[in-house]
Amino acid sequence: MLLLPEQATNHKVTLLEILLSRESRQQRQRIWLADYQTTVVSLTMVIPGEIKDSELSRKAFNQAWDEINQLCNLQSWMIQASEVFNLPTGAEGLLAIKQSADVVKHACVAMEQNNPLGRLWDIDVIGEQGSISRQAIGMPPRSCFICDLDARVCARQRTHSIQDLHAAMEALFHHADVV
Ligand SMILES: [Zn+2]
Repeated sequence: MLLLPEQATNHKVTLLEILLSRESRQQRQRIWLADYQTTVVSLTMVIPGEIKDSELSRKAFNQAWDEINQLCNLQSWMIQASEVFNLPTGAEGLLAIKQSADVVKHACVAMEQNNPLGRLWDIDVIGEQGSISRQAIGMPPRSCFICDLDARVCARQRTHSIQDLHAAMEALFHHADVV
C-alpha cells in the first residue's frame, strides 16, 4: 500500500498552510509541465474540515492512485514520471502522462463518477492550456456528496455543516466497503 492509513498525522491545518500548500502544488505542476512537456495529472482529496491527512483520506487517496495507474496501464498510456507527496495538508500525487489532456480528463471524470469514493477525489488534468474544466469537455460540474447540487456552490455558501459532511464521507466509505 502506498500511504499507511494508520500513520496519518491527523494534523489540523490552518488557512495559511492550505494557501501555501496550494501555491507549492501549482509550482510543482508548472515544473512538471516544463520538464516533461506532456499532460500532467494532479491528484488531491476533497476532505471537509481542518484535518486533511486522516486514515480515511489516505485510504481514499490510495484507491484513487491505484485506479489512475490501472487506467494508464489499461489504455497503454505511458507514464513518464509519477510521484506521491505525503503532506500533513493532505497527500498529493503527480503523474506525467503521454496522452492528450482532453482524453485523460474524460477518463478521469468518468473515474470520479463511477467509483463510490470518486466524490472525494479531485483529479486535476493540466495540458498546455492549463487545467481542463469538466465544462470544457462537455461534462457536468462535480456534484456535492450530500445534495447532488454543484459542489462549488455548496462549498462557497457553506450549505452543509462539517459534521454532516463528515457523516456523508463516512457513509461513502461504508458504501464502498473500504472500511
Ligand atoms: Zn450540497
